[in-house]
Amino acid sequence: MSEKKDFYMTTAIAYTSGKPHIGNTYEIVLSDAIARHKRQEGYNVRFQTGTDEHGIKIEKKAKEAGMDPKAYVDEVAGTVKNIWDMMDTTYDNFIRTTNPDHEKQIQKVFKKLYDKGDIYLGYYEGMYCDACESFFTESQLVDGRCPDCGGPVHEAKEEAYFFKLSKYQDRLMQYYNDNPDFIKPESRKNEMINNFIKPGLQDLCVSRTSFTWSIPVDFAPGHVVYVWMDALLNYITGLGYDVDGNSGPMFEKYWPADVHIIGKDIVRFHTIYWPIFLMALDLPLPKQVFGHPWLLVGESKMSKSKGNVIYADDLVKMFGVDAVRYYLLHEIPYDNDGTITWDLLVERINSDLANILGNLVNRTLAMSNKYFDGIVENKGVYEPVDDELQSIALAMPEKFSALMDEYKVAKAIDEIYVLLRRSNKYIDDTMPWALAKDPEKQDRLATVLYNLIEAIRFSAVALESIMPSTSKKILDMINTDQRDLLKLNVFGAYASGTKVTDKPEVLFARLKAEDVAKQVKALYPDKKEEPKKEEKKTAPLLPDVTIDDFAKIDLVVGTVEKCEKHPDADRLLVSQINIGDETRQIVSGIASCYTPEEMVGKKVVVVKNLKPARLRGVESSGMILCAGDKKKYIVVDPGDLPNGTKVS
Ligand SMILES: [Zn+2]
Repeated sequence: MSEKKDFYMTTAIAYTSGKPHIGNTYEIVLSDAIARHKRQEGYNVRFQTGTDEHGIKIEKKAKEAGMDPKAYVDEVAGTVKNIWDMMDTTYDNFIRTTNPDHEKQIQKVFKKLYDKGDIYLGYYEGMYCDACESFFTESQLVDGRCPDCGGPVHEAKEEAYFFKLSKYQDRLMQYYNDNPDFIKPESRKNEMINNFIKPGLQDLCVSRTSFTWSIPVDFAPGHVVYVWMDALLNYITGLGYDVDGNSGPMFEKYWPADVHIIGKDIVRFHTIYWPIFLMALDLPLPKQVFGHPWLLVGESKMSKSKGNVIYADDLVKMFGVDAVRYYLLHEIPYDNDGTITWDLLVERINSDLANILGNLVNRTLAMSNKYFDGIVENKGVYEPVDDELQSIALAMPEKFSALMDEYKVAKAIDEIYVLLRRSNKYIDDTMPWALAKDPEKQDRLATVLYNLIEAIRFSAVALESIMPSTSKKILDMINTDQRDLLKLNVFGAYASGTKVTDKPEVLFARLKAEDVAKQVKALYPDKKEEPKKEEKKTAPLLPDVTIDDFAKIDLVVGTVEKCEKHPDADRLLVSQINIGDETRQIVSGIASCYTPEEMVGKKVVVVKNLKPARLRGVESSGMILCAGDKKKYIVVDPGDLPNGTKVS
């Protein structure tokens, strides 16, 4: 056997301004499933997570709580770690950015890049709120006032250090071209190129003087390191990187990272700033950045201000760790946001976990005990119905692993479920209870139960990365040590003659929606009612139009040049769209499906001669064509046609 291949992967570090909610918890669970699977594939995995503990928000939160910032972040970091542990995640290193070794390296890196000429002194300019001690850009203001406290703001400027991102722009673009898999999913790469690189990179502010809770710039009194220069470097300081060339063995072994797993909202920082910082330090760049989608509550983003926040520990108390892991991993697809509702949770647990998986295991164990005192023997009495079960079982591990390797975890789970469903159908097809009545068919009955146990073993081995303790429970109950994913290439490796447990445990109990609703009410008494779903009505038939009617609508191709959230409406985005001869401002109700960053650079079809209107106070001249309904809009894509091209 050749030496194990190394695999270094990281999550983003959690910001310690408060307790993470279930949406924030998704990332560690997703990463853990990937880490566990890589280990099953035989990789030598190093899996790092941690906490981002500096910044003005934390300084303020600590002040509000009457605490010293360090004591405050100690508490929150402890909470984060407890949640990660509760979710049964197998990270190897939990790094905190207040760790003295990390802080020391950041100071040395800052100095090195300053000496090199990549960092220079300039001014940070913007609109300043005295009460919040924060800068905002013009576009962040709400009605010209502070978006956080609603107070007055004024123009201000403060001395700050900047990093020359623009110097590395061409090299970055070259890296994108040479490494087509660097940014996943693909769509996020196009956003980066169109929104940030093509317009030209702005230099990045890397120090501030208006707050103190960060790492001091040791050669410039009053300055502290600002956000990304501190946070991103955790990926190398956590391996023992030393800027003076005395890096530890872990750094030599594991850098560059195989993948950084992060939320789609911080892709820019990981695929532009981070590779550029590494270039400036003459270090190799990470092989891949995977920007995962979000978990929405119903149709909106989870946030304290909306009162719709759900915490992992509450879910775990109600449903257990593995059910929560399953839900997160199964309900959030690769490149679209997923959603959590109590109804859907109950449905998934009852159907996927209790019925399809739990029932299969329990029925099979119960029959083995009833008919053969728990002894599972392969008597080799074959019938053609066995072929399909076997071939599905044998094909599953490879399909599952290929999808897991692409981080398409939800689809990978579906492959396990193909086998579980087929196994249930195999019981219906073979009717063991009927075989049991026929003394001539005892060996066939034994073979059927053996085949079922073997199919269950295949499923349970693959489930290790998704629901680790359920996987272990099943493999323990069928009493096997054949647990190697890479050896699932023989159907029949389960030792014939093994005795399974005579006390099968119910893996997942069926839930009643009413009981869950009561628990939810007790847990979240102030929770706002979920908006009632509108009843589905069949669309009324529209009257026929003539070709002349249609010709009255002026449809043209445009490109979204700028896009931001509507200041007063969560559902709306305000886009500036170049339609060839002019730029139009258009307000669209698509914020649940697109972030402003995703919109910028997109080609769209615009209804040019729609009568202008004001939507929640913002002027809108035209309309973007979309397909879909309230749940999921897709902007109609005209391909690469030039702006102003007529659509007819
Ligand atoms: Zn303010």
